[in-house]
Amino acid sequence: MPAEVLHEASKAVKKFGSTGSSILELSHRSKEFMDIVEESKTLVKQLCGIGSDYDVLWMQGGGRLQFCMIPMNFLDAKGAAGYLDTGHWADEAQQYAANYGKADVLASSKKANYNHLPEWPKKVPASLSYLHITTNNTIYGTQWQTIGESGAPLVADMSSDIFSGKRDYTRYAMFYAAAQKNLGAAGNTLAVIRKDFLARAKNELPPMLSYKANVKENSILNTANVFGVYVSLLTLRWIKEKGIATIEKENKAKAKLLYDALDSSKVFTPHVKEKTHRSRMNVCFTTANAKQEKAFLEFCDARDITGIKGHRLAGGFRASLYNAIELSSVERLVAVMKEFEAQAV
Ligand SMILES: *Cc1c(COP(=O)(O)O)cnc(C)c1O
Repeated sequence: MPAEVLHEASKAVKKFGSTGSSILELSHRSKEFMDIVEESKTLVKQLCGIGSDYDVLWMQGGGRLQFCMIPMNFLDAKGAAGYLDTGHWADEAQQYAANYGKADVLASSKKANYNHLPEWPKKVPASLSYLHITTNNTIYGTQWQTIGESGAPLVADMSSDIFSGKRDYTRYAMFYAAAQKNLGAAGNTLAVIRKDFLARAKNELPPMLSYKANVKENSILNTANVFGVYVSLLTLRWIKEKGIATIEKENKAKAKLLYDALDSSKVFTPHVKEKTHRSRMNVCFTTANAKQEKAFLEFCDARDITGIKGHRLAGGFRASLYNAIELSSVERLVAVMKEFEAQAV
């Protein structure tokens, strides 16, 4: 989280604006909260370069609720959806959908432990209800830098790389992001849906699980996550202030620094060899054996570097270089890696 956002959020917990009360006490039906919702929706559209043909929603239930709602709303009994299986979350999204209807895996790199992106399918037929992709694979560290053709409406999980760089958002019928990586605090989720795609959603659903009902009620169908939406608004303001171009430049520099160190290392090995498949958000790497892995973790711990243990499914190490991480933190990590190497070889 950016320091400025933490500062503003903690102020609001004590006293929010001129209300005299805490943001935690604010009614989700108050004018103040409606202003928060409206400003955040405007900022999302501005930052994405999308217009009034899209609806912006704040929801709860994280990424996984979207995994459920997308097939429930858009996959009908006779149809099929396509999924690109590029990592753990992409796989989970497909499995959730397969519980509900026909969810075809059009490409997968699972057998290679997701250490590269599969080839984009030659043809994505328009007969599919949608094609679901995961733009950045958080656990294994791959990221689509170019998005291929799709005859079917494109739906993307952008949980771990939204607003990390320039992107043509108009290509998507829908995209969503759980806030906890680049967009605020856990418990809030952004979903953006193009109106012509929304029109295809089923009507006969319980309102909480219906995108149409949530859009109709402007994100306050039930008691909203007031604080979570506010923290996302603060994050959006921070992103706008900084500018996506600057954020992208910094993210490229951070990732290059770390990948260069990995590529020239005798001790550490990057999980993803193919440079054009590498994630700028999550850099995954390993050491030769478990003993060395433990030694490096302790080495880092003693030098105040935390949170670089890999995901429990992938093992090894993962440095997550989300927007709020500063270049100096990556420089420090690389210096510590070099220091470790010097004493290890
Ligand atoms: C973290 C993450 C999720 C998980 O979201 P939850 O909010 O925990 O359900 C989904 N997709 C991607 C790409 C993620 O990085």
